[in-house]
Amino acid sequence: MGILDLFFPKACLECGKEGKYICESCLKKVRKVGFAKDKLSIFRYEGVIRKAIIALKYKYTTEVAKELADICVRNLKSTNLINKNYLLIPIPLHWHKQNVRGFNQAEEIGKLVAREMNWKYEPNLLIKKVSTKPQVGLKGSTRHENLKGVFSLSSNYSLITNRYPLILFDDVLTTGSTLSEASKTLRKAGVKRIFWLTIAK
Ligand SMILES: [Zn+2]
Repeated sequence: MGILDLFFPKACLECGKEGKYICESCLKKVRKVGFAKDKLSIFRYEGVIRKAIIALKYKYTTEVAKELADICVRNLKSTNLINKNYLLIPIPLHWHKQNVRGFNQAEEIGKLVAREMNWKYEPNLLIKKVSTKPQVGLKGSTRHENLKGVFSLSSNYSLITNRYPLILFDDVLTTGSTLSEASKTLRKAGVKRIFWLTIAK
């Protein structure tokens, strides 16, 4: 329980019902997405899931992250990703939508999901190389170019890569440019099996 919970009773971010940030009835209204080749996005980026992901940027961070992680795990346990020796790598802090509290949601949620799924977890393999200045006002295409070469790998990558298939984890899949840049960096280093997992799309 965070200090904020003492002042604000926990309530659903969508309907306001007390108890949880993500209530079951609002969660049921969010459409599922599912597998597409080597990608899995669990939900559509809508409703209470969208509100929870946005809320992570501003408030109640750890509690919301825990609820989101639990929901991910519940959904993952019915897939063939269970009982496999994966290595989860969270995308480093988003340079284009920086969290005001310096909290990396992909890292926080990814850690909890990996623990529950018995996957390996490595937050320091992928490194964000350059400036973290948000590119406000730039068009998608320009931003795309700015992402090139944004990631590098830490020197211990050879110890880890190819021993396990990698799961690149992020909160939301939008254009996919962040995840594809990260994948390119990993492939260049010889990683063969890469799977994308996002909470929403
Ligand atoms: Zn609700």
